[in-house]
Amino acid sequence: MIKTHILGFPRMGEHRELKTALERHWRGELPADALEAQAAALRARHWQLQLNAGLDHVTVGDFALYDHVAHLIQLFGCEPARFGFTADETPLQRYFAMARGTVARACCGGAHGDGTAALEMTKWFDTNYHYLVPEFGTDTEFSLHAERLLAEVDEAIALPASPKVALLGPVSFLFLGKSKQDGFDRLALLTRLLPVYEQLLTRLAARGVTWVQLDEPILGLDLTPAWAEALRQAYARLGVVGQPLLLASYFSPLADNLDLACELPVAGLHVDAARAPEELLPVARRLPLDRELSVGILDGRNIWRSDLDAALTQLRQVQELRGGRLWVAPSCSLLHVPFSLRHDAALDTELQGWLAGAVEKLDELRVLKRALWGDEASVARELAESRIARAHRIASRRVRNASVAARLKALSPEADQRHSHFPTRQAAQRQRLRLPAFPTTTIGSFPQTPEIRAARAAFKRGELSEAVYREAMLREIELAVAKQEALGLDVLVHGEAERNDMVEYFGEQLSGFAFTANGWVQSYGSRCVKPPVLFGDVSRPKAMTVDWTVFAQSLTNKPMKGMLTGPITILQWSFVRDDQPRADTALQIALAIRDEVADLEAAGIAVIQIDEPAIREGLPLRRDAWGPYLAWATRAFRVSASPVRDDTQIHTHMCYSEFNDILPEIAAMDADVITIETSRSDMELLRGFGQFKYPNEIGPGVYDIHSPRVPDTAEMLRLLKKAAEVIPPELLWVNPDCGLKTRGWAETEAALGRMVEAARALRRDA
Ligand code: GLN
Ligand code: ZN
Repeated sequence: MIKTHILGFPRMGEHRELKTALERHWRGELPADALEAQAAALRARHWQLQLNAGLDHVTVGDFALYDHVAHLIQLFGCEPARFGFTADETPLQRYFAMARGTVARACCGGAHGDGTAALEMTKWFDTNYHYLVPEFGTDTEFSLHAERLLAEVDEAIALPASPKVALLGPVSFLFLGKSKQDGFDRLALLTRLLPVYEQLLTRLAARGVTWVQLDEPILGLDLTPAWAEALRQAYARLGVVGQPLLLASYFSPLADNLDLACELPVAGLHVDAARAPEELLPVARRLPLDRELSVGILDGRNIWRSDLDAALTQLRQVQELRGGRLWVAPSCSLLHVPFSLRHDAALDTELQGWLAGAVEKLDELRVLKRALWGDEASVARELAESRIARAHRIASRRVRNASVAARLKALSPEADQRHSHFPTRQAAQRQRLRLPAFPTTTIGSFPQTPEIRAARAAFKRGELSEAVYREAMLREIELAVAKQEALGLDVLVHGEAERNDMVEYFGEQLSGFAFTANGWVQSYGSRCVKPPVLFGDVSRPKAMTVDWTVFAQSLTNKPMKGMLTGPITILQWSFVRDDQPRADTALQIALAIRDEVADLEAAGIAVIQIDEPAIREGLPLRRDAWGPYLAWATRAFRVSASPVRDDTQIHTHMCYSEFNDILPEIAAMDADVITIETSRSDMELLRGFGQFKYPNEIGPGVYDIHSPRVPDTAEMLRLLKKAAEVIPPELLWVNPDCGLKTRGWAETEAALGRMVEAARALRRDA
C-alpha cells in the first residue's frame, strides 16, 4: 500500500489573501468573523488541492492565523499570566495580543505604560520562519481548548476528506519554549502536559481522525539524555492512547537519535530524506515492520523540480525492505516554499519549468504514487516532462559559465589572506584615515522615507525614467552626507537609498539570480519575504556600487564607507541551486564581491564594509557539522575581503544573534573592524569578545535601532564605558546596533547627535 500526504501547506494563499485579510483586520477594517471566514475559505481551497493530487489525507492543524506554535499555546491553555487577560476578551483577541503585544507597547521590545510586550519571536530551526516562543514557569498549567482545532477537523470531514491532524509534539513544544524563571527546568512540565495531549488524542479519535502527526523536529538536534528520556516517556504514554500517531522528524539527520526514533512505540515515523538521504535505508531496515514509514523524499526547503526517477529508485528500495508499504511526502511542511512557481509572471518559461512550489510538489506526489502503484504508464507524460526539464537545467548554458568554473579552479590557497597581519594593517590604516579615538560610524542604511519608496515603486512600474529616479537617489545621498557632516560622524556612509533590500539589490545585478513575481514565503505573522532564486554560476557583469559610492565620497573629505552584502548572507537569504555544494556557490558569490571590493578600492574608497548578518543562522543544526560549514563560510568571506591593500580598512557587520560560541571563527574572518548588535543585551554579548581577546577593532552597538526611542547621551556613555572594561579602548568604535532604514530622520538625527556626544565625552574622559 502506498500513501501520500504532506506535513503542512503554506497558509498565505495564492495571492497572499491571508496577509491582506489579517492586516485589514488589524486596521479595524475587517471584522473577526469575516477574517475567520476567509481563513476557512483558504483552508478549504488548500485541502481541495491536496485532494486533487490524490493525497490520502488532507492535513489539518497546520493552518495558523499568525503562527502554529501560538495556536498550541491556546490549544493547551497556557497563555502567560502577564497578559492579564479578562473574560471579556475573545480567544482571537487574546491570540493577537500575544502575537503582537498590546497597543501602548508601540514597537519596542520591552513593556511600557499599560501595554504588554508580545511573545518573543525566534527562528524556527534553521528556516527563515519565526515562531512565537511559549513562556513556561512553575505556575504554568495546561488545559484543553480544542474548539478551534475540532472545528477545522469538521470542516475537512465535510469536504469530504480524511483529515490527518498535524501538531507539534509535547517534547518539542516544551523544548521550543522558554523558562521564565531562572533555574526552572521546563521539562518538569511534561507530566502536566501529557494528560492534555492524551485528552486531545482521545477527542480527535472520537471525531473520526484516523491519524495524528506529532512533529518532534528536536530529534534532529543534539539532545541531552534528559530530553531524549522525555521523548521516551512521552510516547510510552501517548503511543497507547489508541489514536494512531505519526511521529515526524525533519530538517536534520537523526544521527544518534536514530535508534530512539525507531524505538518509540508509535504507529508511524516520518523522516527527512532530503536533508539526510544516507539515513533512509538504515531507518527502513531498523523500523519494525508493523510501523508505517513516511519518506520525506521531496525537498520541502527548496524550490527545484524533483528528480522523480531518482526518487522512485530510492522509494522502491524502501518499498522492497518494507514489504511494499510506504508513505511518501515532502521532507517537511511546505510552509517554507512559495505557493506556486510554475507560472510565475516574472520568470521565463525555461526557468518556470525548473521549479516547483507547493502546488507543484503536490503534483509530484501524485505522479510518484501512481508510478509506485505500478501504474507508470498513466504518468508517463509527467515523468518524461520532468526528465526533460531536468536535463535542460543540467545542460543549460544559463547555469554553467566556464570562466567562473575556471576562476574557481585557479583560485590560489592564499586568495583568502590579506597581505599583512592585522597589526601592520592597523598601523597603515591609522596613517591613512587619521581617525580620532573611539571613531563614530553607522551601519549603512539611513531612513527609507516614504518618498524614497514611492520613487522606487514608480520607477519599477515604469512611471519614472531611470534618469529621474537616479537623480532622486543622488539627492538622497547628498542629504544623508550633509546630515552626517553636520552630526560630526567620523566615517560616513552613502545611506543605501537606492537599495530595496540588501540581498535583492546585489542579486539583481549579478548573473545567476532570478526574481519571482509571487514567490512569497511567510517569515512571521503577515510578513512574507520573496527570496531570490540562485540558479546558475554567479558572476558580476559590471560594478554594482562604485558610482554611488564615488559620488558620495566626492561630497566629503571624511572617509566614505563602501557598503556590500557578504557572500554567506546572499546565499542564506536566497533559494540556492542544489546541483553543486553550497560551499562552491558561496565561493562564486565571494569572487563577485571580491571584484567589487577591488573596484571600490581602485576608485579611492578607503573603508569597505561587507555585511554578514546571516553567517550564524547558516550554522547546521547538528554541532558536528559546524566545523566544515564555518570553514567554507569564513573562507568565502575572506576571499571577498582580501584583494585590498593594507591601508584599506575592511569592516563587517553582524546582528540578530549570539556569537560567543563561534568567536574563533569570527576572529578568523579577520575583518579590520566588526560592528555588532549588543545594546539590547546591555553589552553582555561583548563580554565574550573580551574574554576571547578578540584581536581586531570592534564597534558594539550602543543603541537599539528597532525602537523609535531616542536614548540619552548618558545611557550610551554608560554602555561605552562598560564596553571599555572588556575591550581595549584603542580597539573600540562607536555606532548603533544596525542600519537605520526603518527609522525616521527626526529620531535618527537626535539619536546620532547624542551618540557623537557620547563618543566625545569618552574621548575627554579617556
Ligand atoms: N548595511 C545594512 C543596513 O544598514 C545592514 C543590515 C543588516 O545588518 N541587517 O541596512
Ligand atoms: Zn544589522
